[in-house]
Amino acid sequence: MNNDINATLPAVVDLIVLGGGLAGHSAALEAAAAGKSVLLLEKTGQYGGSTVLSSGSFAFADTAAQREKGIQDTDELLRADIVKASGGRVVPALADLYVQEQRDAYEWLRQHGVEFHPIALSSNQGVPRTHPTDPWQLMRALHARVRASRNIQYVDNLSASELVIDASGSITGVVAGDGHQVAARLGVVLATGGFSRDRELIDKFCPRLANALVLGGEGNTGDGLKMAWKLGADLLDMPFITGTFGVSLNNYPRTEIDPGQEARLTLSIYKGGIAVNKYAERFADESISYKVLGEICLTQPDGVGFQIWDQKIMDQSAPQPTSNDLEDAYRKGLVHKADDIASLAKLVGLDPERLQQTVARYNNDVAEGPDTAFGRTGLGRGWGKLVAIDTAPFYIYPCSTGVVATYCGLKVDADMRVIDVRGTAIPHLYAAGEIVGGFHGSGYMSGSSLSKSVIFGRAAARTALETA
Ligand SMILES: Cc1cc2nc3c(=O)[nH]c(=O)nc-3n(C[C@H](O)[C@H](O)[C@H](O)COP(=O)(O)OP(=O)(O)OC[C@H]3O[C@@H](n4cnc5c(N)ncnc54)[C@H](O)[C@@H]3O)c2cc1C
Repeated sequence: MNNDINATLPAVVDLIVLGGGLAGHSAALEAAAAGKSVLLLEKTGQYGGSTVLSSGSFAFADTAAQREKGIQDTDELLRADIVKASGGRVVPALADLYVQEQRDAYEWLRQHGVEFHPIALSSNQGVPRTHPTDPWQLMRALHARVRASRNIQYVDNLSASELVIDASGSITGVVAGDGHQVAARLGVVLATGGFSRDRELIDKFCPRLANALVLGGEGNTGDGLKMAWKLGADLLDMPFITGTFGVSLNNYPRTEIDPGQEARLTLSIYKGGIAVNKYAERFADESISYKVLGEICLTQPDGVGFQIWDQKIMDQSAPQPTSNDLEDAYRKGLVHKADDIASLAKLVGLDPERLQQTVARYNNDVAEGPDTAFGRTGLGRGWGKLVAIDTAPFYIYPCSTGVVATYCGLKVDADMRVIDVRGTAIPHLYAAGEIVGGFHGSGYMSGSSLSKSVIFGRAAARTALETA
């Protein structure tokens, strides 16, 4: 047993929150604001998990920021998009919770010092409702509040390995590190994120992603999921893990990312770019969800796609951390540039004549309509006008599909109680964030995972307090 840790850890607190990402910080701050003592435990040496690696996009509806831009969005539209994106599988009570709480979550983040950038359109949104943040600014702001709170003890480099359960089946604490037990009067919130870094779990639930690139926080190996699963927790949406289209192939024509290399998510398609395969042929309507596009990309030769755009689109590059930072991807050598389409093709080994034909046909369709290959009608879900790829210089970006998040997991009720396989809540066990299943169903509306982490994290803490 590590004596330093023993000295640091309390023996008993009101609430234990596992995972120092967005959901964990939200839950801890909510409980602390109600005067409860919280132990926030983080497995790695750095708070932020997948949250700090993300593009920082939140999905909120009917906000002042949208209204200022003349974007008409409503709770009903938001709910309809969540249901549609999930393939009709979202648990209705979870969709209701998201819709009811989302504007309050937005204001709560702002009050906690989080800065939002101009609204943007992203995947599976009927209207532009992405409220972008810099994910580091987001987490630094929340972490500063955690550090400033006298009610929260934050301990990092310490992994929880087991839930402690009493004779009545109630969760009473956790085992952390080298066998150290901490008791919790109100229970435990599991906010340990997804399991994109656990190849075994990915293979178990989604073998078709065996060759996908893997992103996500290094600590995201499904620990909380396994702890609850061991106690009989039910799981939802497991077969629907999908990859995301647009992850950089840094070493193309090699198709793997070397250890320690940063893979980037870059998307030109929602600005008007197109995507082709190794035969220089388009393979889908590029305005569809990047998740669906990711699935289709994996069925293409070598699982490789190439996004193509021109200078008009390059001029719309938006700075990191959005996935629209085309300029930065170019500066990092992930994007290649040429003055004409044939030269562009040669840079990455595509057939120049075939690529010229593909781009010419697309441009002709944009001018005369409709898109004769795939019926594309807009930049994203029918929103925005298509643009011809006709203004030199031209750009090409070899990419593939990567598992950035798992978006499935523990079954919870609308109060974030973890539900077991018999349909009964496991007393004093709550979950929030990416570890939760039943929200994204078979698809994903961009920005909903970060928003969900805040909304569900705060809700889990409130339930724990009320249950006391
Ligand atoms: C490249 C990329 C881009 C993305 N872009 C977006 C986006 O723009 N919008 C969006 O909505 N979503 C996006 N996502 C998904 C989103 O970032 C995550 O779903 C979300 O951040 C999950 O938050 P969380 O708090 O549940 O988990 P995390 O932020 O991953 O935090 C979980 C934490 O738990 C810790 N932990 C794990 N096991 C233990 C243990 N046993 N004990 C203690 N701690 C433990 C981990 O180390 C980690 O720090 C993106 C993800 C990636 C990777």
